[in-house]
Amino acid sequence: MAIASPLPAPFETRSTCPYCGVGCGVIIEHDGRRISGVRGDPDHPANFGRLCTKGGTLHLSARPENRALTPQLRASKHLPRENVDWETALDTCAATFARVIREHGPDAVGFYISGQLLTEDYYVFNKLAKGLIGTNNVDTNSRLCMSSAVAGYKQTLGADAPPACYEDLELADVLLIAGSNMAYAHPVLYRRLEEARAKRADVKVIVVDPRKTDTAREADLHLQILPGTDIALFNAMLNTLMWESLTDARYIAEHTNGFDAVKEAVRDMTPAAAARICGVPEADIRQAALWFGRAKGALSLYCQGLNQSSHGTHNNAALINLHLATGQIGKPGAGPFSLTGQPNAMGGREVGGLANLLSAHRDMGNPEHRAEVARLWGVNEVPATPGKTAVEMFEAVGRGEIKALWIACTNPAQSMPDLNAVRAALDNAEMVVVQEAFANTDTIAYADVLLPASTWGEKHGTVTNSERRITRVNPAVPPPGQARHDWDICVEFARRLGKALGREELARQLFSHDSPEAIWNEHRESTRGRDLDITGLSYAMLAERGPQQWPLPEGESVGRQRLYADGRFPTADGRARFVVTPHADVHEPVSTAYPLALTTGRLRDHWHGMSRTGQVPRLFSHVEEPLLSMDAADLARRRLAPGDLAEISSRRGKFIVRVEASDSVRPGQAFMPMHWGSQFMRGAGVNALTTPAFDPYSKQPELKAAAIEVKPVQLPHRVVAMRLHADAAQAARLTEALKPLMQRFDYATVTLAGRDDTLVSLRGYAAQTVPDAVLDEIDRLLELTEPARVMRYVDARRRVEKTARIDDGVMTSVCLSGETAAADWLKSMMLEGASLEAVRPWILAPVSSPPQGSLARGRVVCNCLNVSENEIRADAAAGLDFAACQAKRKCGTSCGSCVPEVKRIIGLATSASSEAARILPQAA
Ligand code: SF4
Repeated sequence: MAIASPLPAPFETRSTCPYCGVGCGVIIEHDGRRISGVRGDPDHPANFGRLCTKGGTLHLSARPENRALTPQLRASKHLPRENVDWETALDTCAATFARVIREHGPDAVGFYISGQLLTEDYYVFNKLAKGLIGTNNVDTNSRLCMSSAVAGYKQTLGADAPPACYEDLELADVLLIAGSNMAYAHPVLYRRLEEARAKRADVKVIVVDPRKTDTAREADLHLQILPGTDIALFNAMLNTLMWESLTDARYIAEHTNGFDAVKEAVRDMTPAAAARICGVPEADIRQAALWFGRAKGALSLYCQGLNQSSHGTHNNAALINLHLATGQIGKPGAGPFSLTGQPNAMGGREVGGLANLLSAHRDMGNPEHRAEVARLWGVNEVPATPGKTAVEMFEAVGRGEIKALWIACTNPAQSMPDLNAVRAALDNAEMVVVQEAFANTDTIAYADVLLPASTWGEKHGTVTNSERRITRVNPAVPPPGQARHDWDICVEFARRLGKALGREELARQLFSHDSPEAIWNEHRESTRGRDLDITGLSYAMLAERGPQQWPLPEGESVGRQRLYADGRFPTADGRARFVVTPHADVHEPVSTAYPLALTTGRLRDHWHGMSRTGQVPRLFSHVEEPLLSMDAADLARRRLAPGDLAEISSRRGKFIVRVEASDSVRPGQAFMPMHWGSQFMRGAGVNALTTPAFDPYSKQPELKAAAIEVKPVQLPHRVVAMRLHADAAQAARLTEALKPLMQRFDYATVTLAGRDDTLVSLRGYAAQTVPDAVLDEIDRLLELTEPARVMRYVDARRRVEKTARIDDGVMTSVCLSGETAAADWLKSMMLEGASLEAVRPWILAPVSSPPQGSLARGRVVCNCLNVSENEIRADAAAGLDFAACQAKRKCGTSCGSCVPEVKRIIGLATSASSEAARILPQAA
């Protein structure tokens, strides 16, 4: 099929990747109207030109089809939204918010924003809530992601500031990676670690993770602890350090407080005691402690595995205790280094974009800090009443306490825990405003007002990455349709709300900004004298000299690479604080009714709720559907085989997905990725199961641990429909048209595949006969109704039907009803452009399975070079090792994200003693 001709790309614009907290620099190729390419910025110090599979395909996600283009409004919950102009939309929002505030007080409204907003966007939302309206009800999806890291740093070090930098990955000789699958979640940083290990044989990597992830498999020591037992492990490591005299008495005496209490608290947490709690060998705990204690530089890297816990703050603090006890902080190759999940979670924290924070790392609970911010903003006061954090905010909406909710650049109807309750709350709100770039997130369905926003490639501002490095974000193309920038929407709303509240003059004074730079300059001034002081920095300096780390106070010319080199901490007495961290169990332990411990996490090629990666067909080729991973024996005990359908349930919700056997989880545990929501599967996704329980200090919910049960389900009535399109816009329209049909089945997914062309598929299985009307609708959408182009085989007795469309001698569309065993093979044939002759005998015959000896291509492991798992397995079976396979197929030679997995597949295939680690489900 024809490939759409590439656009000329005479222009290049420097910006950043909008996905993870590594904060890679990108160069966007474009013609001023359309983005045509992206490559890594060789001058950006976060990635030096590298990008992972997600960042490297960003240009393919910059498409107009799924964008919100026009403001929309609905007159009541039961009516569809209609297009309106901006004036009408914003005036309606202002009128409703003003009425709610007048009638019920400022705390009856709330703002739920995002770590994907730019720092300038964040700043004005925070000022709108706390400065103009007088409520602290402004929280963000960073609450689900990093708030335990914030609280952990503040409790121990005195400020929310990661003390280390990326260069430390190359300088450390022991790296303790806890609750992070860096190989998937921060791939470019992981490449840096791989290179450091290749150069230095003495580097030891310890991974703490309940799952045997690719990161864990490559570690020198994997502590595969039971979920929620991190504190016991870290306390036992501290116990060992003390016992072995590996603590730094001088550092403890000169730079810390509280060690005696911690010493006492961990006295009985011996490696033997922790081994019983954590489910790992005592010797391994001792080994980890000895490596850490004897290291010249010990660096810990951690992420959601520690944070998303009902004791996430103590998880963080227990780990930081190890660094304080050994003096492993403030020097090259050392320190507790929290890896941020989102691209600008750090920037949001800097401007105080959480319900408990104020600008420039000030605390809402501190009267002096509130007075400082009030002075800076020129208001009488900022409110003292604690704001509602994410879970609390949606609970308050559900109870009717918060009546008007503004959601910007995030998708809580998929990402919040206990989704059924969250969705009911959204239904209950008087007004839900959704400010969003994409028209098809799960939250859009709940929008009474939809405000179209700009997004990556269109925005202008700054972001801060995990190592405190601020980068300018630049626009390559204008926003499509009537979409506006997030800061601009917020400022415009603030002015109108001020007028509606009779505070017009105040609103004009607070929101006089006419550009992101004007906002950023105000933020910069708020940092003067604070730990993150950036008064020496400017937009111009960022443009001229490139990204800079904070702090960078006036008078200095470069930012500080590492913090606390002098042993002084931003606490009242300049000393860091040890925190007593008693072991605590997960909030919801397994029970007889729910005997499996579920954990959740990320995949390599998808990002959050897929609003962006879900538009790029090739990003589905690594994992194409939501699967629940379980131990093979646990599956067998439930009479389940890999690929079978199962009902997954917790106390809060249930749905049906297929299961896979995996040695990455221990018996009694299960794993499901976070990415699928109602856009690509029947059901709300894994967060229908998760618990809203949260940490008492950080208020971060326990997204990583829920008790579930898994039961077999029989859905004998099956339909698989696939359509190949050369035109990406047509494929996008078909994808949207097929999604509502998922509701007509008990299990269903919509999936994309392909590289140049796009194959859109709907897989739907049902307990009852699929109605003819549904099949007719599928035929219509897949253009299977033109007799001259269609071949059809019908076996009415068995209710089997195969229908295929042929264009220019190639099968471009197919619908299988009743018998779907050949679906994966047909998909491979369609993607390869196989001739009609290759598939005709199968289409017109009463056979269900693919021709003997034919194989589906299997999932793609190397996305850049399009190398499949089956091809790598075949090479391994032929005796090729990793180097030979890579030389032959070039897999892993571009972005490198697949290297750990290619090594694993070859290792497993060539190891006579290893059982197959991952038995791929076959279409049933
Ligand atoms: Fe983007 Fe990948 Fe870099 Fe993260 S590691 S910022 S997802 S390119």
